[in-house]
Order: sequence, then C-alpha cells, then structure tokens
Amino acid sequence: MSPARRSRAPSATPAPDVDPATIREAHRRLARRFGPLDPPSRRDPVEELVLTVLSQNTSDVNRDRAFEALRRRFPTWEELADARVADVAEAIRPGGLANIKAPRILAILREIRDRDGSLDLAWMRDATDEEVEAYLTSLPGVGPKTAACVLAFALVRPAIPVDTHVHRAAGRLGWIPPRTDAAAAHRILKAVVPARVRISMHVGLIHLGRDVCKPGRPRCEVCPLADLCPTAPLFLGTEQPNIIGKRKGLADRSG
Ligand code: SF4
Repeated sequence: MSPARRSRAPSATPAPDVDPATIREAHRRLARRFGPLDPPSRRDPVEELVLTVLSQNTSDVNRDRAFEALRRRFPTWEELADARVADVAEAIRPGGLANIKAPRILAILREIRDRDGSLDLAWMRDATDEEVEAYLTSLPGVGPKTAACVLAFALVRPAIPVDTHVHRAAGRLGWIPPRTDAAAAHRILKAVVPARVRISMHVGLIHLGRDVCKPGRPRCEVCPLADLCPTAPLFLGTEQPNIIGKRKGLADRSG
C-alpha cells in the first residue's frame, strides 16, 4: 500500500450539539421528498478523482460531457497522464475552466504514478478510511471533499462529501457552526450524521441545497425540514427581533 506523505491536523472547531433524533427525522423527510437517495454508480478511485476535478464550477451534464470527451480522446489513464496539457484542455473544454482543470488532472495522475509506479489505486480497497484520506489529501489540489467523494462513491465507505450545497444547508440547519472551513465541516458532519446514512444524507442535502435551500433566499416555505431548522423563522418572518442577530450568522451562509 502506498504511504501518505503527510497528514493534516484536525480542526479544533467543535461539533454542535445536534439531537440524533433530529438527524434521523431529517433523513427520513429528505428521502420522502427527494428519494431514493442513491449515490452515483460505483466508480474506480482514479475515475472519481478525475470526475471531481471536472465537476468544479459546472453542471453535472457538462461534467459528464467533458469526461466522455476525455475518455474518447485518452482511453487509458496512462495515455491521459502522458498527454500534453493543451490537448487535455481541448478535450475537456465543454466542462468549462479547461485551462485550470487540465493541469490539475495531470498533476494528480502524475503524482500518483510517481509514488505508486502505476495508476492503479486498487490497494485502497484494503486500506482504512484514514489511510485513504491521508493519501488523497496529500495529492496536489485534492481536498477533503474530493477525498470524501472517493471514499463514498468509489469505495462505498461511510463518508459525507461536503460540497457548496451540503455546506450551506447544513450550516443553516445548525449542524455546522457559521464560518466553518471545509476540513472542519467534513469532520463535524461525520460526527453528527450516523455512518449508515452518511452517503444518502449527502445526496439528500444536495437536492435540498439545489432545489429548496438555495443561495440567497432559501425557500423555507416549502422546505420539508422547516420545523427542524433554526434559520427558518428568520426567512418565514416569524423570528422575534431580539434573536434575529443571533440567527444572522446562520442565515448569511451561502456556501
Ligand atoms: S428551512 Fe429554510 S434555511 Fe432551513 S434548511 Fe430549509 S430552506 Fe434551508
């Protein structure tokens, strides 16, 4: 197995005191509203890494279009790792930010090959979550969200990737404190959400964040979690003036 080169110190941000019954109820309601909360079909770890880079600042449709074009142009990971950055950028142009994503993808693949001697990450299937996470987050440009995506979607481990939608919705729900950074948000939600529902909670919160708990003004009036949410009264106009200030930190979250 490949050793990680470095590991990151855990953030000191404490997890809020969220009632486990509230989390279970929220999960039930998200499943009822948006279910089934199935994750994407299982992928190879390298595929998940590439897809996660391609998904940055674009829609799922454009990400998939860019990925398909990339695989058509470079059918093996080895061919892709050996490619010129300009050719990779040209292939993934439909996904946007091609000139940024192409060098990121190549840097990750080349680093894996330099370390492991190949682009085969099958060793991860026998490694612990902590070993996988430490390895991935030591790759160039790979943060806690990408590591959690590989754990959840490639290895089917109980991880909860925190993208902008999950971060915003969980913040407003009071599951993570205001101004929590990405690494701490992952650590806190892992502590707050039971292992067996982490992946499906991720899927449910993505739906919630995209369709209901939107950036700017959330649609609390149609939210299935409104009575569980400390931010809802502010947007529904039922908040008492003397506690609006306390809530504002939650309400201001936009991911
Ligand atoms: S009640 Fe409003 S703020 Fe709370 S999670 Fe739902 S949409 Fe977001």
